[in-house]
Formats: sequence, structure tokens, C-alpha cells
Amino acid sequence: MPENKSERIPALADQCVQCGLCLPACPTYALDGNEAESPRGRIAIAAALAKGLAPVSDGLREPLDHCLGCLNCERVCPAQVRFGELLVETRAMLGPAPGRPRVLLAVAKRPALLRWTKLPGLRRWCERLAHGLPERSRWRAALALAALKPSTQPQPMAGRARHASALPRVALFPGCVGSVDDAPAQQAAVTLLEAAGHPVTRLPAFCCGALDAHGGDTQAAARAARRVRESWRTSGASILVTVTPGCLGQLRSALPGVAVEDPYALLAARADQLHFRPVPQRVALHVPCTQQNVARSAEALQKLLARVPELEVMPLPARCCGAAGSHMLEFPDRAAGLRAPTLEAIGALAPKALLSSNIGCRLHLAAGLVEQAMAVPTLHPLVLLARQLLPGHPS
Ligand code: SF4
Ligand code: SF4
Repeated sequence: MPENKSERIPALADQCVQCGLCLPACPTYALDGNEAESPRGRIAIAAALAKGLAPVSDGLREPLDHCLGCLNCERVCPAQVRFGELLVETRAMLGPAPGRPRVLLAVAKRPALLRWTKLPGLRRWCERLAHGLPERSRWRAALALAALKPSTQPQPMAGRARHASALPRVALFPGCVGSVDDAPAQQAAVTLLEAAGHPVTRLPAFCCGALDAHGGDTQAAARAARRVRESWRTSGASILVTVTPGCLGQLRSALPGVAVEDPYALLAARADQLHFRPVPQRVALHVPCTQQNVARSAEALQKLLARVPELEVMPLPARCCGAAGSHMLEFPDRAAGLRAPTLEAIGALAPKALLSSNIGCRLHLAAGLVEQAMAVPTLHPLVLLARQLLPGHPS
């Protein structure tokens, strides 16, 4: 593969045989019914821009900005086109979109600032302010997310003994939004991994760079990748885990050769060590695109949930909810359109809770549930598992 971007993009695009088999898997093609908003259309546009066959215009840039980076197309492509790589390269070539909500993203990437927005008084203020703004405006979407009630902490398991273990040490990467909004899931991951016999080290909380890489800000993404490598070097761990599948791809590209996973495969491998109290409830399970297409851990998660007696897990149809990193802030209208079928499916199941592993998806779905007055709490699956975990002794 050539080093030069203007040659790399056409080389990646040349892998596409234009069969169109990816079109039915693409959520934006389903939304718009327009070839430009499909993987094949985006590949053709990216190649034309990289070769200088067409000048960059709003009309050509927009479909590339609309792409969710869900990688459903990559999963079904018989020619194994590396669409994710092509998308990141193309956005790097174009630079950040003019309408990118820089201030909102700057706050989202800084855990110290983000924690402020969660203070109870400020949360209520965000809620009131959001109601005064136009429907589907970017600031309204952001304030509605900030106004969501924080999820609850998992119950600490009394009397759980920690044992010296021969299993590899795991480093937990907290991320930015995840370190604040998904703190209970991170605590749950530590509880479960330790119960399975893995010693755990927590790394400092900062952004992995995914928001920048997907937004075309290559310098900021490279700075974040350097920080990831520095903090990994001092961790003394041999596996890096994140509870946010949306961070996985970026962490893997920052740490080539390192095992970077979500915790489910590690926990499923030790499932016989984990015992749970029953939950006589029906829950809906949303599998985020990054969990499906990057982590590929949906099966391990289902295996773990199946160990919780009396829990009825109803998987939602596999489709992108529209959150897609900063997409829900940049294009709130489109994000709401993409979310609608998932909300409808949740309504039909009438579950006691909605489980989803990605904090962005969960916040976006929770905001939709509030909008539609559906009283369905949202939860990271690890939080449910840690709550139900029975004390035990890893061997
Ligand atoms: S499935 Fe693959 S080869 Fe076929 S059009 Fe889509 S990207 Fe191109
Ligand atoms: S990454 Fe997702 S939204 Fe983008 S072209 Fe592929 S399937 Fe469509």
C-alpha cells in the first residue's frame, strides 16, 4: 500500500469491485435511498477527490461527513475493502468539517470539564435551557445529553476476596466521556475481572483520539495516540481493555501488536468462575456497531448474560442507532431518524431495562426514550452482571 495519501486513497478504493452487496447493510443508504450516501458511492467520491478529478464541494463532502463509520459495509464486503481505513484517510485529507461542533467536542474530550456538567444544579439548568432551543439543533442535542440522569453504581459485593493470580494483568482504559458517564461500568469491569482472577490497573482518564481521527483532525489524533502509548508503557499489564467498544479501533491503531479488547471475551473464558443471583426480568439488548464489527464480542456477552438465572435477554434488531461518535451532535436530525426504528423495537418489547455497551449509543438512546416518555432505564451490561455477581473464589 503506498505511503502517500493521494495514492493510498485510490489504492484502497481500487479494491472495490462495485458489486453493491454492501448497500443493504448501510444505514445511511437505508435512510436516504441515495447512492452517494452508500459505501460504494462514498468510495467513488473519495477516489475522485484524491485523484483531483473533482474539486471539493459541499455536495461531495456531505455524504462523506454523514458516514457513521459503523463498518457494517466492511463486515459484508466480499472484496474485503478496508472501508474504515479509507474513511479515516479521506477525512484526514479533507480536514475537519466546517460545521463540526468544536466547542462541544472540546468539552466532551475533557473529563474534568465533563464532570462539571453532571453537577445536579447544572444538569437541571441544561434541561431547562435545552427546552428553549430549536428542535434538533446541535446545542439542544448536547444539552439534552448533559441533562440525562447519571446511571447508578453497581452494588459493591461484600466479602469478595482478592487472590494472587497467574492470569495476565489487565489495564483498564477509562477514556473521556466513558470515564464520567460510564464510571459505574468501569467499576463493574474491575469487579468482574478481579472475580475472574485478573489483576487490574486503571490508566489515567483521557480521550483515545477516536473523535479526532473520525473528524479529520489527524494532529490531535496523533497526540492522543502518543499519550495512549506512554500510559500503556508504564502500566505493567499485558492486555488493555476498554468498556467502550467505540474506543477499541483507535486504541488498537495506537498500540499495534498489543492485545486490546473489551472485557467480555476475558470474562467469558472464565465464565465457570462467575456465579450470579437471579433477575426475573426481561431486558432488551442493543449491540453497538463497534461491538459487532470491531470488538466482535456479542457472542461472549450473550454467553455471560445467559449465566444470570431467570434473566430474559431480548436482542434488538442489528442496526445503527445513529449515535456514531460525534454524529449525534453534528447531525441531530439524521441521528434521530436513524434511532427511530430502535426506539420502536424497544417500545414493542416493553423491557424492564435496555442494555448497551457503548456510552454514546446509550446516551443517544436514553435521550430518545426520554423524548418519547418511555420509562426504560439504560444500563451497561457489565453493571448488571456486577450487581448480580455472587462472592466466589477464583482458582
Ligand atoms: S461490497 Fe465491497 S466491493 Fe462490493 S460495492 Fe461494497 S465496498 Fe465495493
Ligand atoms: S461505515 Fe456504515 S454508514 Fe458508512 S458507508 Fe459503511 S455501512 Fe454506510
